[in-house]
Amino acid sequence: MSAGRPRKSSSQPTDPADLTAPLATTDIEDAAVAGALPPVPELLAAAVAAIGGEERPGQVAMAEAVQHAIGTGEHLAVQAGTGTGKSLAYLVPALRHAMAAKSTVVVATATIALQRQLIDRDLPRLVGALRPLLGQEPRYAILKGRRNYLCLHRQKGGPADDPQDALFEHADTGPSSPLGRQVKRLHEWAEQTTTGDRDELVPGVPEAAWRQVSVSAQECIGAQRCPFGSRCFAEKAREAAARAHIVVTNHALLAIDATSDIDVLPGHDVVIVDEAHDLVDRVTSATTGELSGPAVDAAARRAGRLTESAAEGGAAAMADQLRQAAAALTIDLGDGSAGRMDVLPDTLAATLAAVRDAAGECADAIMASAAGLEDDPQRLATARMTLASLDDLQRTAHRVLEVFGEPVSARQEVVWLDLPFAEDARRPPTLRVAPLEVGPVLRNRLFAERTVALTSATLALGGSFAPLAIQWGLGLPETEGNPAWQGIDVGSPFDHPRSGILYVARHLPPPGRDQLAEAYLTELEELIAAAGGRTLGLFSSMRAARQAADALRDRIEVPLLCQGEDVTAQLVRQFTEDEPTCLFGTLSLWQGVDVPGSALQLVVIDRIPFPRPDDPLASARQRAVAARGGNGFMTVAAAHAALLLAQGAGRLLRTMTDRGVVAVLDPRLVTARYGGFLRASLPPFWTTTDPDLVRAALRRLSASVPA
Ligand code: SF4
Repeated sequence: MSAGRPRKSSSQPTDPADLTAPLATTDIEDAAVAGALPPVPELLAAAVAAIGGEERPGQVAMAEAVQHAIGTGEHLAVQAGTGTGKSLAYLVPALRHAMAAKSTVVVATATIALQRQLIDRDLPRLVGALRPLLGQEPRYAILKGRRNYLCLHRQKGGPADDPQDALFEHADTGPSSPLGRQVKRLHEWAEQTTTGDRDELVPGVPEAAWRQVSVSAQECIGAQRCPFGSRCFAEKAREAAARAHIVVTNHALLAIDATSDIDVLPGHDVVIVDEAHDLVDRVTSATTGELSGPAVDAAARRAGRLTESAAEGGAAAMADQLRQAAAALTIDLGDGSAGRMDVLPDTLAATLAAVRDAAGECADAIMASAAGLEDDPQRLATARMTLASLDDLQRTAHRVLEVFGEPVSARQEVVWLDLPFAEDARRPPTLRVAPLEVGPVLRNRLFAERTVALTSATLALGGSFAPLAIQWGLGLPETEGNPAWQGIDVGSPFDHPRSGILYVARHLPPPGRDQLAEAYLTELEELIAAAGGRTLGLFSSMRAARQAADALRDRIEVPLLCQGEDVTAQLVRQFTEDEPTCLFGTLSLWQGVDVPGSALQLVVIDRIPFPRPDDPLASARQRAVAARGGNGFMTVAAAHAALLLAQGAGRLLRTMTDRGVVAVLDPRLVTARYGGFLRASLPPFWTTTDPDLVRAALRRLSASVPA
């Protein structure tokens, strides 16, 4: 790690590999400053009073636990139900520490919605409330990866993407094409935006359009050389973050900061991971590499254009070799079978070696001919973009080949082939490589260097923090060799048994793999009729959601919306504003969606959301756990299902006055052996399997809503 890393206190373990001793607070609090600051309970009370809320025992307990973690360096996992007010519970001790230690605390979230809530609502109100008590202005900032900010150099005439680069989504980039219109819209927006932050562009634009006006960190030519360096949005965000006490970011940037040798976040000693139930998936995504024929071909063409004017003719020949390797890769992947790859076919191995070698040689040739480009930002930017893509191709091809150099049981990574779905045939076949586990890297690069507090409404699966702690790399607490950590559940302000019913349709047959059976549709129809609509249908696949929506539209008397018919935010708005409306979609999409009040009184989940048996990562992870003598199904598949079920069920109660039913149409939740583990992961609703009883309850609830 570079010099940007925080200094360590003298009470740090002397051996960096000794993870068992708690980290002491890494940036030492200035005792005089800390002594002058009010204690956390007083600050929290002031913040709550200023915001007009009530003190909640769970919030106070959580704030004290976060303060304890920061003070001792012992990591913390804290489960806090909806309505706890957990953002204030971590922001108050985090802010106090950052001001006392003159350091920075990073808060990482999974969703843009929570980032916006922190930056637009919670932090401004908190800062306003605490400024008089703290005696100085607390500073906060949001920081994302460079790719998330508009690049003025690129937008104002820097290197354009080769039109062929957009092949995956839209081949036509002309001004009147859909992509061309989106790019035009981006140029208009560029004249108004003060942040250049992609997430502030509503509605958003497809990735292919955004790529035309953005660069990755590797592609940026550097603020010193860039003619727009002094106005650069990404640079301004970094500068604001460097001055901030609290930096809000996302899990992906946290993962990149922790796993790479480049400091993308300012030096920090404490990390708060909110929405921590998603951390493993987000870190896995951020560290997944991919290769496709068109991506290799695009890099080869860029390299060809850059090297064609080079004095040395051999450089162009190398770009030709890369194009040939791209063509071979397109054929090899197109001939392959979708799914996990345990054996690498010889032809594909040879193609990958050709991609790796040709990409490396092209990069060397460009580097050799790049001398003198310092004064030509335009050509320098093109060279940087080309080198970044060549470097990525070379590394990924090498990474895939390395995987197959090990016996299956010793592999640390998983390789699989994604083939395009029929409805999205323009996406090319893509080879992906991802880590089998992210725990080791988080343990060595995050937990070993920072104090981390992880929080979510769902962290204890089957009543225990152990399943997620093992995935994060913390392991079991108080076990020799594991980092010191503790897990606490501060509960929920909701009275779940009185406010909600968990209904399991025990009388239905176990769900099949294909069509939704008629019995399921009838059950859904009757539940929706009893509830008078107001239903969020959460399905295990888009296909199931569409099928149910198509079948039910003719059978129910209330409006029914389905994911994909409009942008999600618009669908949620319609669902919220027109109370009888129902909304169907996939289980994972609705994580973080907040619909308080009587617009949502019934959440229906079609089946226990186990990963598909052919899911390459889940199946490989399950196999690895089993090979170590563990229970692969419970550790991977049941834990995954428990998290999604709990998140889905958590949509029901959003305020103290909300009431309703979570209906699970999968009888295995009460009949299977693992059912107890899954039910113990859900909020403690009153539970029944009686369909008459639950329909009667829904009718009463519906009747109680004022017209
Ligand atoms: S400094 Fe980098 S990101 Fe910023 S405008 Fe210049 S090239 Fe783009």
